[in-house]
Amino acid sequence: MATDLQPAKFRSAESKISQRERDQAIMDEDVLLSVRNLSTHFFSREGIMRAVDGVSFDIKRGEILGIAGESGCGKSVTAQSILRITPNAGRIVDGEILLHHDDKIVDLAKLDRKGRAIRDIRGAAISMVFQEPMTSFSMAYTIGNQIIEVIRLHQNVDQKEARSRAIAILGRVGMPKPEQNIDAYPFALSGGMRQRAMIAMALSCHPSLLIADEPTTAVDVTIQAQILELMKSLQQEMNMALIVITHDMAVISELCDRVMIMYLGKDVENAPAGELFRNPKHPYTVGLLHSVPQLGGGKSQEIVGISGTVPSAYVRPAGCSFHPRCPAFMPGVCDMTEPPHITVGPNHSVRCHLYV
Ligand code: SF4
Repeated sequence: MATDLQPAKFRSAESKISQRERDQAIMDEDVLLSVRNLSTHFFSREGIMRAVDGVSFDIKRGEILGIAGESGCGKSVTAQSILRITPNAGRIVDGEILLHHDDKIVDLAKLDRKGRAIRDIRGAAISMVFQEPMTSFSMAYTIGNQIIEVIRLHQNVDQKEARSRAIAILGRVGMPKPEQNIDAYPFALSGGMRQRAMIAMALSCHPSLLIADEPTTAVDVTIQAQILELMKSLQQEMNMALIVITHDMAVISELCDRVMIMYLGKDVENAPAGELFRNPKHPYTVGLLHSVPQLGGGKSQEIVGISGTVPSAYVRPAGCSFHPRCPAFMPGVCDMTEPPHITVGPNHSVRCHLYV
């Protein structure tokens, strides 16, 4: 289903411009997903929490984007917003989530979150793997039953063919004895095997975009390295775009082409990965990189290079929300005005008054 995204100049009934030309005017063909000025807020008795607050980024086909930042910075809510699976208190209040899908551009932000259109996209065009595989699987059914159900939901195949595809994808993600383990219940598998089964289910319909939310946090060091290696090889083999959400900058350096750093619901820096590690601009990014944990170091290696803690998202500091923790804080500037996106190099933008 396409939404009415055409600028007014294209809406004339006499227009000879094709749908494809109109879409190209809005979004480059090689961009798979364009998130523009996205704001997702949570409404509760405590007030309004601006979990995601004016975030913009593009991801190209076949690209790996890392989204990094401390806990509570809005990384996971950004991903949930794309799939329209935020908890009930969360609402998209502004922005667009434009997806190239079936030769059209669909604004996911405008779809009914329980409607047919988004259900057709979830699990097919866009899939997600979570930190804890138990989030994805029901304990009451075998992994095979659940993977087959996803395949049959999105692909027009019979039970036998779906089972054979499920065995093939389980084999591809390195599940030992896939013909037997397809009939295993999730609780009967080890943590690493459950992780592989979850990746198999996410990839079973060949999505254009896979979102992995802290995919290696819940498994031990050896399995972490194997899962990262697996995700990278599958991403290349399937030419799939991948969004990796993590607090671990070592995972970003290992895996990603591009990085977006988030702080308190804002995208504070966005750059190609090599450029960000060589030439970080935002003081928050500099702090993150000073505390890069070792790859595979696990959840205990939290970010320690930045003083203070993330303030409550209910009571945001005025101006730049990082100013109470920033070593480069400029009184009268940083606490007065919110910095805009500033381009500081090719494909490199930052929100900081130092670069105005
Ligand atoms: Fe620090 Fe000011 Fe830049 Fe914010 S705008 S990161 S407070 S220098």
